[in-house]
Amino acid sequence: MDEIASAIAAQGFKRWYERQLVRCHLQLLLLVLCLMGLLGALEAFGQARQEGRPWWLMALCFGLAGVLGIVALRRYLFLLMRAEHIANQAHCPACKAYGRWRLELGGPVPPSADGPAPLQACCRACPARWPIHY
Ligand SMILES: [Zn+2]
Repeated sequence: MDEIASAIAAQGFKRWYERQLVRCHLQLLLLVLCLMGLLGALEAFGQARQEGRPWWLMALCFGLAGVLGIVALRRYLFLLMRAEHIANQAHCPACKAYGRWRLELGGPVPPSADGPAPLQACCRACPARWPIHY
């Protein structure tokens, strides 16, 4: 069982989804802080050059904030898209209940042409079962 399947099995879908949203929005917060760091380093860089102080430290801060911001943006988008992709499949096809499913562990898993084998969802409100691709 992979990371997503074991996390959903342990926490349930709704709690897993909430935690994924919190994780990805923490990345967004980091991105905003990096943007503030970029602007601060840019301003300090200009002042340091005018006053004859070492400017390379500000350039280093600017580069670090830029790299960290890009990593945070990529992580934010990855976590958000993955969580939304799974959440868009969380409707029961029979009774239309949203998010009321559990993983069917040990059941038959149809082969997948690409990517990991889909999760097998089992509705808590009716006997329906459906695959959830991720
Ligand atoms: Zn159902």
